[in-house]
Amino acid sequence: MIPGLMQDAPLLISGILTFAATAHGGREIVSRAVDEPLWRYDYAGLARRSAQAAHALAALGVASGDRVTSLAWNTQRHLELFYAVPGMGAVLHTANPRLFDEQIVYTINHAESEVLLFDKTFLPLVERIAGQLTTINTYVMLADEERHEAGAVGALCYETLIAAQPDAIAWPRLDENGGAFLCYTSGTTGDPKGVLYSHRAVVLHAYAAGLNSAFGFTAFDVVMPCSSLYHATAWGLPFVALLCGTKLVLPCDKMDGASLQELIVGEGVTFTGGVPTIWTMYLAWLEQHDQTPGVLKRVVIGGSAVPRAMAQTFKREYGVQVLQIWGMTETCPLGVVATPTPALAELGEAAMDEAIWTRQGRLQFGIELKVVDEETGEDAPFDGETSGALMVRGPWVLKRYFRQDQDCVDADGWFDTGDISTLDQYGFMRITDRKKDVIKSGGEWISSIDLENVAVGCPGVKVAAVVGVPHPKWEERPLLVIEAHEGEAVTKEAVLEYLAPRIVKWWTPDDVVFAAVPLTATGKIDKKVLREAWKGHLMG
Ligand code: ADP
Repeated sequence: MIPGLMQDAPLLISGILTFAATAHGGREIVSRAVDEPLWRYDYAGLARRSAQAAHALAALGVASGDRVTSLAWNTQRHLELFYAVPGMGAVLHTANPRLFDEQIVYTINHAESEVLLFDKTFLPLVERIAGQLTTINTYVMLADEERHEAGAVGALCYETLIAAQPDAIAWPRLDENGGAFLCYTSGTTGDPKGVLYSHRAVVLHAYAAGLNSAFGFTAFDVVMPCSSLYHATAWGLPFVALLCGTKLVLPCDKMDGASLQELIVGEGVTFTGGVPTIWTMYLAWLEQHDQTPGVLKRVVIGGSAVPRAMAQTFKREYGVQVLQIWGMTETCPLGVVATPTPALAELGEAAMDEAIWTRQGRLQFGIELKVVDEETGEDAPFDGETSGALMVRGPWVLKRYFRQDQDCVDADGWFDTGDISTLDQYGFMRITDRKKDVIKSGGEWISSIDLENVAVGCPGVKVAAVVGVPHPKWEERPLLVIEAHEGEAVTKEAVLEYLAPRIVKWWTPDDVVFAAVPLTATGKIDKKVLREAWKGHLMG
């Protein structure tokens, strides 16, 4: 081979900011903030304030390679840290405030972070855990001077810090393979594990997410991420928006129906995204208040399986297209996106909808997928039927967890996702379960995700969770736990009657119980808690 003769320009996160400030400088950013009025500025303003934040952090002693932790909602100040911290060569650890205290402490100590920047909401949490944080030497509250509180940790005020700094900066030319964001998995099994995103991974992921086969933004879009900035960088939306020059709307932590509607309609949101629970609430709110979602065109939903009924309601009632995505913290997080193709369109609209609504998404360039038959160890065919362990590989898939001394991929670079899925001839992937959630009944597998997906379509049902619980004869049988919408009287008989024509008989849950369904720190049904709570239920 002979060397190519093109420039070796590194793919850097600061490049995205500089580009947006130059090419779309006047495009607006609107943000709610804790306790403060709506904040409005633009990409040029974001670039200026990110520069100020980088200078301020440098003045606090933060240097290239150091870790800085944020404990913050989807706000403009958090967005500024998304650019300032990696821009200067440091690493932003986005702590997940929904984890238990001891897990938050674990992640901050494990990251060896030196500065903790937090929204005012989290002052009590920070005061509670400060004594256990072994490496933090500076606390900064992300608030304005009027609302600032130093608290027991003597927090500095973000606005005071940055006001004293110049609003221009020459971002350093870094190694594109250097660390930029440190995101921890939720640790539902064992300690949370750190995934260290490189600049290169984040930038390539943003390019891919912007394509028409994925989010497909144009400069006319108005994008509101309701996925959390602290969870896998809100699916890269804060980068894709800047690449494409969309208006950006940040909802802070206000995810109730009325607050979402105010921004969706008031700001002309055309594209939003988040985990299914948010949209269950929002759709119920729209119906109760007899309202429509303004000019909203597309909603990207992932993190857990999208109930078919949700995608159908969005389309049929409001003309909104649902894009299901699958991914994980370990994949930056985008893996597949469910977008239409000509081959599916040939099947007709109903069949295409059906295909798209019942699959997680299709292959995107940059993420290779394969399914391995766990019994034979062979690669499964792309036949839509053979299920097995889902493996991934590509430039934005992790190789090794932070501070571990061994890679977590096989000799060919494949990472085992822990999901069980199929792949079909259209390049679509369908998840049937997570390995640890699979229900084994008399040696046969029952897909908890498929069952939940059907059950949640039953009128009055808000959340449907299926777990395998020990059974004296069949080893394990499915138990269906239902949380009904407020004021709805759903009965076991009604649910079983609804399920009967829609599932194979031997999948019928052995019992249907009604209870609040617990969620994990990343908004997924907490099956571990459910299994523990109901483990004796079918043992007689
Ligand atoms: P956590 O820390 O909760 O594991 P992740 O976001 O990393 O957070 O979780 C990734 C997992 O979420 C995937 O491995 C998969 O099991 C599940 N998941 C993500 N998107 C979907 C989806 N569209 N359908 C079903 N499961 C999904």
